[in-house]
This record gives sequence, structure tokens and C-alpha cells, in this order.
Amino acid sequence: MEDYKFLFKVVLIGEAGVGKTCLVRRFCQGVYPIGQAATIGVDFMIKNMEIKGERIKLQIWDTAGQERFRTITQSYYRSANAIIIVYDISNQPSFDRLPEWLRELRQHINDRVTLILVGNKSDLTESREIPYHIGELFAQRHNMRFIETSAKESANVEQIFTELTETLLKQANEYLD
Ligand code: GDP
Repeated sequence: MEDYKFLFKVVLIGEAGVGKTCLVRRFCQGVYPIGQAATIGVDFMIKNMEIKGERIKLQIWDTAGQERFRTITQSYYRSANAIIIVYDISNQPSFDRLPEWLRELRQHINDRVTLILVGNKSDLTESREIPYHIGELFAQRHNMRFIETSAKESANVEQIFTELTETLLKQANEYLD
């Protein structure tokens, strides 16, 4: 018997190179890949969490490079409980393409899916192109939570997944009540 009460599917999207794989590896394996461009080569990673005494399994899907070919399929989004949309705060085009990602996303998901906007690489202060408040404003406009992270410095990475899981747990418990 599987030893958890809830299984949540979380998927990451956003332009290639924004740090999706690094965020997932930082959170699931506690490592930051140095050197080679990291593609984990599997569809998803698993992380077991315990929140408020409840055992939860997170299934975290990384696009594994598919975004380069724009072939992200229906199956990737299927039964997702939450979507993390990532851009790179030092890369304007990765921010400018967010509306396109949202459009694509909305073709695949319903309103109940929790969305979070993540501005990654917050350690790159010298080359920042997107001010914090611009990211925050975009998230407000589109009804998403907003957080800046650094996979490199392990800043706010746990927080994204913990807050997300707390939200999903609350929704699931409300649904069960
Ligand atoms: P993906 O294509 O979105 O999965 O991006 P990757 O996780 O492969 O990361 C792309 C590049 O960005 C790699 O060279 C990483 O080392 C780098 N990177 C990822 N996260 C951070 C971060 O928080 N800070 C900095 N400075 N670089 C990062």
C-alpha cells in the first residue's frame, strides 16, 4: 500500500533556460547542477512531503527540453493540480513570452488549477532586467501568486513547493468536507 494520502501533480512551464530543471533538482535532490545543461531525462520527479500531519506525494513534471520544440502535449498538463510558470529575471524575452504561455495553458486546464508565477535567478542582481514589482503586477493581473527564487542560492525554492502544497491540501480538504 502506498503510504500517502494525497498525490498532487505539479508541472513547470516557461522558456528554455530559465532554470526549471535546476529548480526541480534543487527541491527534489538538494543539488544545484553545475556545468552541463541539465536535462533530467525523466518525465517527472517525486517528492514526499508532510504538512499538518498529512503525507503528500508531489509528482513534479519538468518539460525536459520539449519547450524548445513547442510540442508540449495535452498529456503533460493532464490532471495537473498546479502549474508553475517560470521566467528568468535577467532575461526580458523569457518574461515577454509569458502571455503566450498563459494562452497555451488556458487551452488545456480549467479554473481550479493553481497557478504560480516564479521569477528565477534572483541572485543575478547585476544583470536583472525585470524589476520585482513588474513581475508582481503581472501575477496580480492574472490572478497568480508571485515569488522570486534562486535555484543557485537555494532562495525561496522550498517555499514555492511548500506554499503550493499547503494550498492544494487546503483545496483538497475543502473538497472532501
Ligand atoms: P530549463 O531549460 O528551464 O530547465 O533551465 P535549466 O534548469 O537547464 O537552467 C538553465 C541555465 O540557467 C543553467 O546554466 C543553470 O545553471 C542556470 N540557472 C538555473 N537556475 C539559476 C539560478 O537561480 N541562478 C543562476 N545564476 N543561474 C541559474
